[in-house]
Amino acid sequence: MQSIPSETLIIDRKARANMPFYDLDLRPPTLRTCDFEDVVIDFSTERAMLEAARCIHCPDPAPCMLACPTHNDIPSAMWLIEQGRFSDAADLYHQTSSLPEICGRVCPHEALCQGSCVLNKHHTPVLTGELETFAVDYQRRNEGRVIPLAPPTGRRVAIIGAGPAGVACADQLVQRGHEVTIFESKPAPGGLLVYGIPNFKLPKDVWFEKWEEFERAGVKFVGNAYIGKDKTIDGLFNEGFSAVFIGVGSEVDAKMENTPGTDLPGVYEATDFLIRGNVDPKLLPSEMTRPLEVGKRVVVIGGGDTAADCLRTALRLGSEEVTCLYRRTEKEMPGGKTDRAMAREEGAKYRFLTQPIRFMAGENGRLAAVECLEMKLGEPDAKGRRKPIPIEGSNFSVACDTAVLALGYWPDPIIGKTTPDLETHDWGLITADKKTGSTSREGVFSGGDCVTGPDLVVTAMVAGRKAAWAIDEYLKNKKS
Ligand SMILES: Cc1cc2nc3c(=O)[nH]c(=O)nc-3n(C[C@H](O)[C@H](O)[C@H](O)COP(=O)(O)OP(=O)(O)OC[C@H]3O[C@@H](n4cnc5c(N)ncnc54)[C@H](O)[C@@H]3O)c2cc1C
Ligand code: SF4
Repeated sequence: MQSIPSETLIIDRKARANMPFYDLDLRPPTLRTCDFEDVVIDFSTERAMLEAARCIHCPDPAPCMLACPTHNDIPSAMWLIEQGRFSDAADLYHQTSSLPEICGRVCPHEALCQGSCVLNKHHTPVLTGELETFAVDYQRRNEGRVIPLAPPTGRRVAIIGAGPAGVACADQLVQRGHEVTIFESKPAPGGLLVYGIPNFKLPKDVWFEKWEEFERAGVKFVGNAYIGKDKTIDGLFNEGFSAVFIGVGSEVDAKMENTPGTDLPGVYEATDFLIRGNVDPKLLPSEMTRPLEVGKRVVVIGGGDTAADCLRTALRLGSEEVTCLYRRTEKEMPGGKTDRAMAREEGAKYRFLTQPIRFMAGENGRLAAVECLEMKLGEPDAKGRRKPIPIEGSNFSVACDTAVLALGYWPDPIIGKTTPDLETHDWGLITADKKTGSTSREGVFSGGDCVTGPDLVVTAMVAGRKAAWAIDEYLKNKKS
């Protein structure tokens, strides 16, 4: 429900809809490819107030609220921002979101809140994500934020994985008085917010400032702890934890099966490439600290957002010719349009209906070219996407010294294999109730990408929050 009912506002909706629109300010492509800094220039207070004043305040429930997976009260926040009450707006976002400054930056707004704004019909939608970012950053930087805590319950909960799902679960549990320890296989918390999404989309200092809020609220972090190997879930119960939340994501790179040459020097998996290309070496696991050797001609194979992130990372690492090879056409690409448009602006090229079939070495034994086949589109598959079909004899080669495979992700099966009676499916995804995150094991809950497969920060966060509420109920009813 909207906390500021739209019918109480005396406003001229027509005049608002016709107000001029000024798009986001972005750093020019020639400048932004010289570094890994944020591409978007932050709103000034005046600019934020002006943009928020374009909201026409649809009747409750507003379509943007419904389209937001965490149901942020966007219209009320717009009103507060318009009035200059930025901290009040930030408080409103925190009621429904554990990571508003992150979601405001990385959500695919055009498919969620912004995409459902009624102004899309005849005008331009309100920049809802950017305004969320503005209000929450404003509060954190000017006043700081203290997470409200309930009196201690004496119950201890273990969370496995410090990505958006795990952190959101921790946020909601400490607010209910439970003691929370997060066990994480990487040295630092954040999951894909640190070890995946590049800095130019989500500056790491934004995340680490956010993390300090959770630390101040008492969330304990144990890094370099790979559950399934260093400890097991049964072991955690034996240590005295009353419940466990699994939020381990879906981070194992899909392989390019039956394709010779993927082991050549110069061929990288997307995760390895993005992590080593983007993350401060001090935050890297020891096996990843070797510097990347990226050449001048890079091909990226895949059509999702990860592929766009790899293209843009390669350009920032100094590569001159950066090309995406994709086996269908642009229409079938799973990645968002905005990321693709930015990659193009920065100099990336796209080559469609192209299937790599062999990575070839040069005289020095390193990657020198990739042999490809031209494809055509056939009948739609089970998901309705037209199948790519090779055109026989259409072989051609693309010269390159670096190739990045951005083909998708699978779950890591280790938790399922080392936890008796924990039900999994499809190569290790954890079977969990959509509303509560409860699994086939009593006291074990799960959510995020390890349940759904690769999805979004906001959906993982929502799953973590919902599981925390269910864990709280479970602990209230548990005798010992
Ligand atoms: C390159 C890239 C770019 C993306 N860009 C966007 C974007 O712009 N917008 C968006 O909304 N989404 C984006 N996503 C998707 C988004 O990052 C994920 O959907 C989200 O992070 C999932 O959250 P999670 O908490 O479920 O898992 P993760 O973020 O994957 O976190 C899981 C954590 O668990 C840890 N872990 C794994 N196994 C174990 C174990 N056995 N023991 C202990 N710890 C373990 C991992 O190290 C990791 O830290 C992107 C993903 C990638 C790969
Ligand atoms: S969480 Fe995402 S979808 Fe919801 S309002 Fe924020 S940017 Fe939009």
